[in-house]
Amino acid sequence: MVDCVICSIAQKKIKSFIIYESSDFIAFLDIMPRVKGMTIVAPKEHVTSLVDYDKAFELMKTVLKVAKQIKVELNAKSVIISNLPTQSGHLIIKLYPIKEDTEFPLFEKDPIRLDEKDLMDLLEKLKIEEIEEYEKKKIQERDVEYMEKLKREWEFT
Ligand SMILES: [Zn+2]
Repeated sequence: MVDCVICSIAQKKIKSFIIYESSDFIAFLDIMPRVKGMTIVAPKEHVTSLVDYDKAFELMKTVLKVAKQIKVELNAKSVIISNLPTQSGHLIIKLYPIKEDTEFPLFEKDPIRLDEKDLMDLLEKLKIEEIEEYEKKKIQERDVEYMEKLKREWEFT
């Protein structure tokens, strides 16, 4: 497969500002946003078409969850949701927080420059805490697996 930035982010090979993560999806800040707080939601697997994606409904539920978080935390008037193609073909959904003074059109605009502090501030506001639930679940699963492995070993001794 061609080098895919979204896959690399999902596999944590590239540093990103993750605001939400589940076993199937990931949401992270766009580091070259058209508007401050612009966020990307994507499946972790390299899916190319929303229409043909068997988890499209779950993906859109995640998109709405993140959009609501953005709307509340950034005090946005609304959140525009778009499904524009990417270079690698990896399906992404872009979320643009809209304020009263947002100028249109948005998509052709030059990216805003954000430094690490701006991004950390946004991350702090937008982070959905379930990310920790997800981590916890992963740890629990690992522990259960480990205990079962131990049990199996004991049974044989
Ligand atoms: Zn990909």
